[in-house]
Amino acid sequence: MKYNFSITLMALAALLFVLPSCSGDKADLVFVNGTIYTMDDDQPVAEALAIRGNTILYVGENDNAQAYASGRTMVIDLQGKTMIPGLTESHMHFDNLGRNILTAPLDVYWLSVDEMRDRIAGAVARAEPGEWIVARGYNDAIWDVPAHRSLLDDISPENPVVLRRYCGHAHFVNSRALAEAGVDRHTPNPDAGNIVKDPAGDPSGVLVSAAGAMVTGYIPSQPALSEQEELEALRLGSQALLTHGITTVHCATGIGLRDIELRKKAYEEGYLNVRVMDAIAAEAARELGKPMIGLYDNRYTVRWVKMFVDGSLGGRGAAMLNPYDDMPGEHGALRALGQSEDAYAQLVADLLQLGFSTRTHSIGDKGNRVTLNAFEKAMDMAEKSPGEARLVVEHAQVLHPEDIARFANGRIIASMQPVHATEDMLFVEERIGYERAKGAYAWRSILDQQGIIAAGSDYGVSPFNPFFGLHAAVTRQDRENNPRGGWFAEQVMSREEALKAYTTGPAYVEFAEDYKGKIKKGMLADLVVIDRDFFSIPAHEIHEIEVVKTILGGKIVYENHQ
Ligand SMILES: [Zn+2]
Repeated sequence: MKYNFSITLMALAALLFVLPSCSGDKADLVFVNGTIYTMDDDQPVAEALAIRGNTILYVGENDNAQAYASGRTMVIDLQGKTMIPGLTESHMHFDNLGRNILTAPLDVYWLSVDEMRDRIAGAVARAEPGEWIVARGYNDAIWDVPAHRSLLDDISPENPVVLRRYCGHAHFVNSRALAEAGVDRHTPNPDAGNIVKDPAGDPSGVLVSAAGAMVTGYIPSQPALSEQEELEALRLGSQALLTHGITTVHCATGIGLRDIELRKKAYEEGYLNVRVMDAIAAEAARELGKPMIGLYDNRYTVRWVKMFVDGSLGGRGAAMLNPYDDMPGEHGALRALGQSEDAYAQLVADLLQLGFSTRTHSIGDKGNRVTLNAFEKAMDMAEKSPGEARLVVEHAQVLHPEDIARFANGRIIASMQPVHATEDMLFVEERIGYERAKGAYAWRSILDQQGIIAAGSDYGVSPFNPFFGLHAAVTRQDRENNPRGGWFAEQVMSREEALKAYTTGPAYVEFAEDYKGKIKKGMLADLVVIDRDFFSIPAHEIHEIEVVKTILGGKIVYENHQ
């Protein structure tokens, strides 16, 4: 009896201790008995937290958090499980995610050449005579023979076949497709594109960057999705993200005004249940006139413009300062945007004046240099400090060593995709040689300059599971632990840096560092409970982490009931 009494006294004391600070605030949701990694330097680990509405009320100890509970509060015992802030995917083609779930298009992702041929042959067998066979995701880096149209001609002599490389910046087609498009040995290369020739001087079937459009323009268009289907696709896409602990997605597609209207409708009618940060086309930004910030309770923001300065490394479309090692004389190609640095800078500056920040796809060391030059000029022209501008280089994939310092202290932000390193490692050294590969996917070099990295997957290009990215970031290995010790292992991130790249880094990109990215009093309650401890498990298990619960704005929006 006496014992119980003293417990009650202690509880009362605890209550008195916390009450003044919360002045009657009761929580809707309390989590206790967790290992909570907050990303807040003032309190890196906690065991409990209390949430009211969409906001974190308290982070700290079990007893104090319990004191926020009333009869209407849901109290969840984490039983020692790990909680981290809701994750942000900083570069994804979000629209494609739901559409792909909905329509399940033909794909040849990461198939060997034999598997690819089997799948295409199967599609040909089911197709009408002359029907175009279109698939996405081929990766010739894992094939044991070079991509040549003869690999497709014998399985599809009559049906045109078009495969889109997983990076999206090259196409591989058969002879029939070339014939339909009228592309032959005499066809000149388009601007910013390359019709790769075989030793006989004929098109090999590989069409780099803009050359792809010479054939894809002939593909009969598919019936467009109805508006209802588009809404359903957004719902499926957002649900897929929540399943993997992603509460915010930066969409890098460069959408137009019609897509914005669809997003708004989806939020209003309850189809969209993640935070979407949209990058739109420059034209759309001009028409919009000003950004849209924090709609639907901070769920929807349009304040970025997506641009492209070059192509991809795998497709040899990335603009390089010096030629590719495996294709003498070939430098890749700058897109129109990169042809005049002054015009590029002026465009970025004009958009800054309207309130839009630019995010430019830049892969090669030349592409990156042109973008960095334009960004620096644009900030001067618009008289914006780096903190006001927050310009983002998308990919920042191959950097000249002299350009790395330009990311120092987050002056310009690097949006990078850890899994690209462990996928591209199969061909990078062959393409650009060992010396230049040292500046590729150079996370450590950027972080050592106090640079800010925002991490993502670039889905459609790579899988969007953020734990695959976190794993690649801290190991520089694929999910079979290759290569031993990691590929250019000196560029690994620490686990904390990797998690920052999925939380506080992107929050900075969003101008949201005061209310997102950490588990801290006053911040939005976007949280993920995971099935093992990210900081203490062996590194090779990180990609196996599964999400137990996802909480968005204080509401449990995903639960794994297994
Ligand atoms: Zn992309």
